[in-house]
Amino acid sequence: MRIRPLLLAALLVVSAASHARAADEPSIASLTASARRAGLRVLQGDHLTLITDRPVRAGDGVEDLPRIFDAAWKTWCQHFDLDLAAHREWRACGCLVVDRERFREAGLLPDAIPDFANGFCDRHRFWMADQSNPAYRRHLLLHEGVHAFTITLRGLNTQPWYLEGIAEYLATHRLDADPAPEQSTTGFVSTPMPSRSTDVEQLGRIEMLRGLKPGTCPGLDDVFATPAANHGDLSAYAASWAAVALLSLHPAHAPTFATVQRGSLDADFTERLVHAPGWDAARASRDFDAFLSELDYGYDFNRSQIDWSSGRPLDVRQQALVGGDQGWQHSGWSVSKGDRYTLRATGRCTIGRLPEMALESEADGISLRWYRGRPLGRLLLSQWVHGDTAADRPRFAVLAEGATGEFRAMTDGVIYLKINEPPGELADNAGRLTVELAPLKQ
Ligand SMILES: [Zn+2]
Repeated sequence: MRIRPLLLAALLVVSAASHARAADEPSIASLTASARRAGLRVLQGDHLTLITDRPVRAGDGVEDLPRIFDAAWKTWCQHFDLDLAAHREWRACGCLVVDRERFREAGLLPDAIPDFANGFCDRHRFWMADQSNPAYRRHLLLHEGVHAFTITLRGLNTQPWYLEGIAEYLATHRLDADPAPEQSTTGFVSTPMPSRSTDVEQLGRIEMLRGLKPGTCPGLDDVFATPAANHGDLSAYAASWAAVALLSLHPAHAPTFATVQRGSLDADFTERLVHAPGWDAARASRDFDAFLSELDYGYDFNRSQIDWSSGRPLDVRQQALVGGDQGWQHSGWSVSKGDRYTLRATGRCTIGRLPEMALESEADGISLRWYRGRPLGRLLLSQWVHGDTAADRPRFAVLAEGATGEFRAMTDGVIYLKINEPPGELADNAGRLTVELAPLKQ
C-alpha cells in the first residue's frame, strides 16, 4: 500500500475536523432559520435536518425520513468501522425540492449548485428533486446522504465508480411494515443485495443490467474506468452498484476490499485496490462477469461462488455430483472443443416447499414453475465461454439439460453443472444429483 506522507497529513486534518464545517459552509442553524423565514417545513432527526416545500400530506412517509436517515446512518458507520459515539454530532442538511425557485428565493439553493436531475451533494448539504414514489424518494435521500457522509467523514474523492457505487450500495434498503424489536422503529433494513423487486420499487438496477444487450455489458475494468460524465446514464449507476456489491459481499474479494476501504478514499483508491495484497485481478474480472450473467434478486454470493480451477480430461465415463443448494459447480472434468459427450443424471433434489410438503425434482425438472425459460429443478450443463466479439463478455453457455443428453464442447475447459433455480432460492434446497459424463465415440 502506498502512503504519501503529505496526503496522509492532509487526511488527518480532514478527519480531525470531520464534524466542523468548512468556512464557506453555512451552519445548520442559519439554514434552518432561512427555511423558517421562507415558510418551508423543517423536519429534524439526530443526523439530518430536512427542509422541504412539499405540502403536508398524511401517509406520504415524508415525516419519517429523518428517522429512516438516522437508522441508515448507523449502518454506514458500521460499514466503515466508525465509532457511533465519536460521530454523534455529525449532521447533514438536505433539501427535498418541489419548486426550485422557492429555495433560490430563500437563499437555500445557491447559484453555484448545478441544475441537477435527481440530486446533488456538496459536503454536509444536499438537494434532491421530490419523487412520486415513496420508495424511490427514500432511496434518493439515502444516496445523497451517503455522499454527504463519505465526503465529510471519510474525505471521499475516489473514481466515480466507487463514489456512486458505494452510495447506491449503502442506500439500498427495504422497510419492514412490522419491525422486529431489535430493528429500528422505522423498520429500516439495509439490503445492499435486494431480496425482492417489491422491496426496491422503481429502482430497476437488476432489470437494467439483465436487459443489457450482448456487447454492451461492462466488465469490471470498464466499470473502474467509467468517467463521471457517464453517470448521467442510469446503467452506469447500476454497474457501479454491482461492482461494489461483488467486492463487498463475495467471500473471495470482501476481505481485501474491506481493508482497502478502511484506508484513504482518495484519488488513488482504485490503484491501491488493484495493487493490494490478496487482489486477484483475473478472478475479480471473471467473478464480475459471472455475477452479471447470473444476476437476480437475492443473489447469494456464498452459494454462487465459482471454482475456476482446471479439470481433469474426460477420456472415459466419469461421475460428478451436483448439490441442489449451490450455483454453478465444477464437475471436476474438462472437455475438448468440438468433441461430443453424453450426459445421464439420476437422483432427486428438494427445491423448495409448498405449504405442507417439500417440492422435489429429478433431473428433468418440474413443470410447475419455470425460470429463465426452463423448468425449475432441471439439471443444466454449461461451459464458461468467451463471446463472439471482443466486446461480448464471457458467460455460462448451457450445452445440455435434463436427465439424458448429448453435447458438443464449445471450448477447451471445465464442465459446470447446477440445477435450474433463481440464485436467491438456493438456501432451502437439499439433496443432489449424480451425473454420468462420457465421451461419445466418434
Ligand atoms: Zn450520486
